[in-house]
Amino acid sequence: MTIPLRVLIVEDSVDDTDLLLRELRLGGYEPTHERVETPEAMNAALDQQMWDIVFGDYSMPHFNGMAALKLLRERGLDLPFIFISGTIGEDTAVASMKAGANDYVIKGNLKRLLPAVDRELKEAAVRREHRQAEETIRYLAYYDPLTGLPNRTSLLDRLHLAITEGSGQKKSVALLLMDLDHFKEVNDTLGHHRGDILLQQVGSRLRAVLRPSDLVARLGGDEFAVLLPLASSQHAAQVAQKILEALEPPFMIDGLPVAVEAGVGIAVCPDHGTNPNSLMQRADVAMYAAKQTGSGYIVYDTHYDRHSPRRLSLIGELRQAIERDQLFLHFQPKIDLKTRRVIGVEALVRWRHPEHGFVPPDQFIEPAEQTGLIKPLTLWIFNAARREGLMWQQAGIHLSMSVNLSARNLHDPHFPDQISEILQTTGGKPDELELEITESAIMNDPARALEAITRLRAMGIRFAIDDFGIGYSSLAYLKRLPVDAIKIDKSFVINMIENQNDAVIVRSTIDLAHNLGLKVIAEGVEKQDIWDRLSALGCDAAQGYYMSRPMPAEELTRWLSDSPYGLNCRAV
Ligand code: C2E
Ligand code: MG
Ligand code: MG
Repeated sequence: MTIPLRVLIVEDSVDDTDLLLRELRLGGYEPTHERVETPEAMNAALDQQMWDIVFGDYSMPHFNGMAALKLLRERGLDLPFIFISGTIGEDTAVASMKAGANDYVIKGNLKRLLPAVDRELKEAAVRREHRQAEETIRYLAYYDPLTGLPNRTSLLDRLHLAITEGSGQKKSVALLLMDLDHFKEVNDTLGHHRGDILLQQVGSRLRAVLRPSDLVARLGGDEFAVLLPLASSQHAAQVAQKILEALEPPFMIDGLPVAVEAGVGIAVCPDHGTNPNSLMQRADVAMYAAKQTGSGYIVYDTHYDRHSPRRLSLIGELRQAIERDQLFLHFQPKIDLKTRRVIGVEALVRWRHPEHGFVPPDQFIEPAEQTGLIKPLTLWIFNAARREGLMWQQAGIHLSMSVNLSARNLHDPHFPDQISEILQTTGGKPDELELEITESAIMNDPARALEAITRLRAMGIRFAIDDFGIGYSSLAYLKRLPVDAIKIDKSFVINMIENQNDAVIVRSTIDLAHNLGLKVIAEGVEKQDIWDRLSALGCDAAQGYYMSRPMPAEELTRWLSDSPYGLNCRAV
């Protein structure tokens, strides 16, 4: 039995080509071949068909094997490449392997040819299988296999991207969430198989009414989402109307007509939220309201919040979560831009809900603020952060610990005393503590904020203004506040390389803050070029995914010993 083999030969000698083909035939292969002598001919041959293997003569007058190999790899083709050469020294052999050749064979000694070909073809097949497996995994990570539509992960990725692009162009982005009515009944009465067919058909109808640049995703169950990049809420409402009309004609499933109704909720960035989680949550609230009222679609408005069952039950459950140890902290390092040392960590609360899984803080901090639950929550966080900080201190790790406060904490007259009590019971030095407050928390009631900050500062606690730049306070106002540092909001930092406006805001914030004697921390440092730019601008410290994501305490201890950003021996 012979094995067909498609062979591309980069070679100027016809005789040598014949010798090579003869050897392959002797080994049981049935080669079809093309011989090329120039880059143009090689490119044309690669365009024309698929090849199994490429042989290259090491030295030819106008074109050589190295250049052929380079050309092949530049085209991203992972075909075995074997050098065939009249003479090849050790050095050349090593150089060719380094350049990505799979093997080399000397023309005068073709004995090594067949074993090399057998081996390389086998290995190429293994690599191909690997690639296919990886593609499948990637596909499953980003697509819903039932409908072939992007899944929740894709949607969140694209939403993140659309928000960033939209804010750069000062345009809004719309998110529509849609849930079918009575889908469970379809499943129960007609069976899961027909339910699946219905979902597939709904997916196709959605796709058919939308533009190619719009994203349609299936989030699971009977929930779908549509992302309209650069769309206003009016445009989103028109699209929602079109979707509802498209769903009106009954679906034919195994010859049976099935009628489907749906509720659509719309949330728009920046009006209703500026990050993927808050937009999803708001669109969900609007969708629930649409379903409750049977009004087809609804654009989010704060007054629908009160009716959101998810929100109401979350608040009830958050109360229990505090008692039942479902909350825990992650810590994200802050790194000094000059010394590249870790100077502190920010404690960020996490909630692992027994049914909903991970609930991001964006979803429960705000309701907790509105209901007053933020008071016990912050005390719990403060206590937990303090205990962790002291454990590190005992292990000789001195890190400044930052905890986020909300406006409610700052305006609570008991708060400073409660903090003082925790400090006394836990012991340790308070100057390793920093509290982060947002501008809007201060501007809510500046006189009371000032009083609370002054009392807490008298205990040795330092303060930083969080999310600086998105609120209304001016740096001139900050001058009157006894704070130590400001954190530039990540929305400016993330885009500062591409967006000139953001770059100017970052630069002037750094300069003015330094004039006022404040330290500046940039949050949202996601890439090396942002780190470099901030460093050149004289920013003091940075925090962001480029260096590290927030992580659990045990992981942080490991990270501190392994990362290039060693530890500062003294707290700053
Ligand atoms: P924040 O205080 O400004 O915290 C920084 C947020 O940015 C964190 O999100 C963090 O994970 C995220 N982040 C860090 N580096 C990067 C980056 O390079 N790129 C991007 N895109 N994001 C980055 P997280 O933990 O989801 O917290 C969100 C917000 O929720 C916090 O913003 C804070 O306002 C609030 N929050 C979190 N934990 C607490 C807490 O313990 N108490 C209070 N009151 N609020 C909290
Ligand atoms: Mg913060
Ligand atoms: Mg922040």
